[in-house]
Amino acid sequence: MTTSITTQKCLKDAKTIIIKIGTALIVDKSGDHVRQEWLDALAEDVKALREAGKNIVIVSSGAVALGRTSLGIPLDKPPMAIALQKKQASSAIGQFHVFNGFFNAFTPHNIKIAQVLLTMSETENRRMHLNARATMNELIENGVIPIINENDTISTGEIRFGDNDRLAARVAQMIEADVVVLLSTTDGLYTANPDKDDSAEHIPVVEDITQDHIDMAGEAIPGMSTGGMKSKLEAAQNATTSGIDLIISNGRGNHILDQLVNDENIRSTLFVGDHTTHNAKKRWIGAHMRPKGKVFIDDGAIQALKKGGSLLPVGVKKIEGRFERGDILEICTESGHKLGMGITAFNKNDADHVIGKNSEQIAEVMGFMGRSELIHRNDMVLQA
Ligand code: GLU
Repeated sequence: MTTSITTQKCLKDAKTIIIKIGTALIVDKSGDHVRQEWLDALAEDVKALREAGKNIVIVSSGAVALGRTSLGIPLDKPPMAIALQKKQASSAIGQFHVFNGFFNAFTPHNIKIAQVLLTMSETENRRMHLNARATMNELIENGVIPIINENDTISTGEIRFGDNDRLAARVAQMIEADVVVLLSTTDGLYTANPDKDDSAEHIPVVEDITQDHIDMAGEAIPGMSTGGMKSKLEAAQNATTSGIDLIISNGRGNHILDQLVNDENIRSTLFVGDHTTHNAKKRWIGAHMRPKGKVFIDDGAIQALKKGGSLLPVGVKKIEGRFERGDILEICTESGHKLGMGITAFNKNDADHVIGKNSEQIAEVMGFMGRSELIHRNDMVLQA
């Protein structure tokens, strides 16, 4: 383990930081007020970070929680148990209060903010992704802080992030940020659930996310929040694959950002990004959340990929899903272990005809000499 990497160093070195604020931090116990004093303290910390030359982007939850009492939804009803249209209506009411809270916090510092509502389909479609990225970069270049949330009123089912942890990782990847800070009510990853197990140990730095870490995260989803540790781990996987560091910390107290930067006794878990060379296209591929299908490949193909080769149809045992040329596929071993992601050069129908075949056989089947790779190496990202 490279022990020199710490949360403090990571934040000090970062140029662009995404700060994600969980519902339990921004909403007070009554359920219908913003914790304005906390937000005011956060704005002071953000001001200091900007004065230190950093770009800050904020992803904030809280819209559904701040709107729900207006619709008579009881406070103790967990988000998962609320009907989707109720959540969508609540978010339409509450989003104003989220933004207003930030407006009140940043205006005294003369810092401009902008509301950006995103859906998953925008970030998964390359052209829309580039548009959203251009908007965000324009705001940042003009010194305006984007305050982002999912556009809950129109996001449904399959096309929904559902939790802002993964949205924050996606935004970071979109604008090539250096680090994501997930502020919630947990101070990071433990070897077991610290509420239930006295022997649970806190993990300050994770260099490679393994199945053990995923198992440690468990399924628990506390109170008003949506994601829990599981979605934080998924966000960490998405971010780190794209070369972005991700920090989880408990943000309940005032001035948590200042403490995270300056106080090494503050507990957090830092997931270290894979900083090997990834270009923007590869980052976009790697951070994809809803691949359109899966390719299962044999050992020979795995070796070829590890040596930097392309994925040829001959090494593919099976394909699943419905996809067109240009869609993103997950690349798996025969037993289904995920190896990475890539852009397919064939649609599903043609892919069905060419798998298991060499180039000559492919030319025969297709009737012409088409592309010889199913996924070209430049269109592929393998997991570390
Ligand atoms: N977008 C949801 C909201 O603003 C929050 C999702 C989450 O809790 O991560 O209420």
